[in-house]
Amino acid sequence: MAERDSLPSPARRRALRRRLLAWWDAGHRDLPWRFPQRAADPYRVWLAEVMLQQTRVEAVVPHYRRFLARWPTLDSLARADDAEVLAAWSGLGYYARCRNLLAAARAALGRHGGLPASLAGLRALPGLGPYTAGAVASIAFAIPAPAVDGNVARVLSRLFLVPGDPRSPKVKARLAALAAALVDPVRPGDLNQALMELGAGACRPRRPQCARCPVAPGCAAREEGRVEAFPARVPRRKPVRMVIAVVRVERGGRLLLRRAPAGGLFPGMWGLPGLVVPEGEDPAGYLRRRAEAGLGLRLSVGREIASLTRVLTHRRLEFRIHAGKLLGAPPKGTDGWGFTSEADASRLPATSAMHRVIEASGGWFTASRRDRDTKKGSEDKQKALTRRG
Ligand code: SF4
Repeated sequence: MAERDSLPSPARRRALRRRLLAWWDAGHRDLPWRFPQRAADPYRVWLAEVMLQQTRVEAVVPHYRRFLARWPTLDSLARADDAEVLAAWSGLGYYARCRNLLAAARAALGRHGGLPASLAGLRALPGLGPYTAGAVASIAFAIPAPAVDGNVARVLSRLFLVPGDPRSPKVKARLAALAAALVDPVRPGDLNQALMELGAGACRPRRPQCARCPVAPGCAAREEGRVEAFPARVPRRKPVRMVIAVVRVERGGRLLLRRAPAGGLFPGMWGLPGLVVPEGEDPAGYLRRRAEAGLGLRLSVGREIASLTRVLTHRRLEFRIHAGKLLGAPPKGTDGWGFTSEADASRLPATSAMHRVIEASGGWFTASRRDRDTKKGSEDKQKALTRRG
């Protein structure tokens, strides 16, 4: 195998394609976004590809089905309400994907009347990088474009002994060139999906199952007995620590929720009001000092009632949750603030981190507790009226 920097010979490409397509045709996972090459629905293919980024297939399937039942076409999604779409995305994480999805749906409809059937047109839409554009182009439009995600990168780096950090521009370019050379001119979508399926199954990161791999006879890493040496392992970047001081304010069985503003953490998502605490500051003290300027709330901040840590890909979020009382009137208007019941909150977009924060701080009110609190509130009011009278 003397092709370390050159592209595989035409004969080798043909042999690999033949084996991969025969293996794909012999059976693959039946997933709701998979179609025969000629019957693919571009909107459904694209939606699945966006949802699958950084997210497991099992987590995506129920979201995908619910999402399609609510917005079955690109047109319906483009006309949807942002908050409703974000609420349907809740639990999938990486919410920028959802905002880009909406922006791209609107741009595609405005510019092309639907998803464009060209790689350049797809790449020009918000949030469609080389992988997503290549996957949609090849699967939905049968355009011979490469689509290299993490799984495909692993398979290619083993098949062709590609050294170096797979995230570096140089290695990415090499993998893209190999994928472009390998893609099938007639069934590009099936070929790309076969590579993805192989990476998600037999060619897994550790102890790949070469005995059941369709391209084992053409795999350079297997031939050299170095399958686990490819792709090169690179240390993960340590997530950046972020402390968030959060306040739980209750009233009549409801919690005060705030929609995070644009430019902050989780923009557009609802949750308990909170502030990112600068390094070295005491969370409670910072919240007391900055609540009015940072949140627009006049607050009395009490003790810390709970803390919770959530580690995301690039961030380690440490929530420090405090009991609080509003001093004076609640924030005006319904846009961005509200004392909210659990039932109403379930229709708002919220991150799973925020659901955990609410649980950790004491959870939502049960119906009986809410009735008791509401009853107590009216009794207190009655007593006060009686005293005044
Ligand atoms: S032979 Fe093994 S290492 Fe090579 S592509 Fe197949 S599963 Fe991966």
